[in-house]
Amino acid sequence: MDWIYKVKTPCYVIDKARLIKNLEILRGVERATDCNILLAQKAFSMYELYPLIGEYISGTAASGLYEARLGREEMGGEVHVFSPAYKDGDFAKLTRICSHIVFNSLSQWERFKDKMPGDISAGIRINPEYSEIQTELYNPCCKGSRFGITSKLWEGADLTGITGVHFHTMCEQNSDTLEKTLNIVLDKFGSRLNEFKWVNFGGGHHITREDYNIPLLERCIKRITDLGLRVYLEPGEAIALNAGFLVTEVLDTLYNDMSIAIVDASAACHMPDVLEMPYTPSIIGTNEKGGYRFRIGSNTCLAGDIIGDYSFDSPLKAGERLVFTDMAIYTMVKNNTFNGVPLPSIAVLHENNEIEMIKEFGYNDFKQRL
Ligand SMILES: *Cc1c(COP(=O)(O)O)cnc(C)c1O
Repeated sequence: MDWIYKVKTPCYVIDKARLIKNLEILRGVERATDCNILLAQKAFSMYELYPLIGEYISGTAASGLYEARLGREEMGGEVHVFSPAYKDGDFAKLTRICSHIVFNSLSQWERFKDKMPGDISAGIRINPEYSEIQTELYNPCCKGSRFGITSKLWEGADLTGITGVHFHTMCEQNSDTLEKTLNIVLDKFGSRLNEFKWVNFGGGHHITREDYNIPLLERCIKRITDLGLRVYLEPGEAIALNAGFLVTEVLDTLYNDMSIAIVDASAACHMPDVLEMPYTPSIIGTNEKGGYRFRIGSNTCLAGDIIGDYSFDSPLKAGERLVFTDMAIYTMVKNNTFNGVPLPSIAVLHENNEIEMIKEFGYNDFKQRL
């Protein structure tokens, strides 16, 4: 991994070979089941790689106008959008960009249905009120959730003109969770599914994780295709899972009750899920049994901007590089410049081990947004 020392830190490095490995798995599912898989751009919007991703899967899923436009411009194929609520001005633009528009409520559908061109497929998000997500921040079926219509509303609703059904209730889960969810969806919403053409299973399917049960996923898809409906999946994480690194440099080490190292990347600015979830990301070369334990924190002024505690075989030294793994997803899309911290640059690691710098950011990127 000599490329670690070839980039200026901090830098996201997307490993093309690992990305392709994920894409091959996803294409395998598409081919085996005749479903369509979309990139949920909110997890990974590095459009430099969209042409490559578009060779393997069917298109993109967007959370609003800007992502929809990015998907249309940079990947093409199908462009699906779901937003909790659309604005009038955005909606007109979305109808020129999207192939599928998913509505969150019956009132949104009523508001916009006469503005839907005939060649765009309308979907409605349902809330099965079943989710195995433990973290409330990420649970779309939490009490008082604003996402989707529940079975109570669905029973007597006039759904004329809607051709698809969308649910999204999972997060980093295996297909056993999908199976249980699907049982509930079919139980609560199944009697009217014959009115529709497609079902979108949302995201949260960790399809490219080593222990993921793909045959069970394929059986779940088949239960819907056997009813004559098309199935869409819109994973975000699974597309670029474990396909990216964040290369950082140790700026200083100090001691206060424990050994501390300060790096030029920040949890708050560059990996916010570390604080939100919370979780501790992996660093290459750590050893749980190593004799040198360090708390790694960032060069911001936020006391809690700590990435985690790690053990090493030798003490960390200023100038050394630390490489965080699984840093492609939900990182660069969430970056901010709190404290005036620079945005990490973005690079691709090609299959021949060459590093290609895609983007570097500077002072103006900080200043222009303020
Ligand atoms: C977040 C989200 C996704 C992608 O979820 P992942 O956990 O990244 O797979 C897909 N669809 C919707 C509606 C989402 O909100």
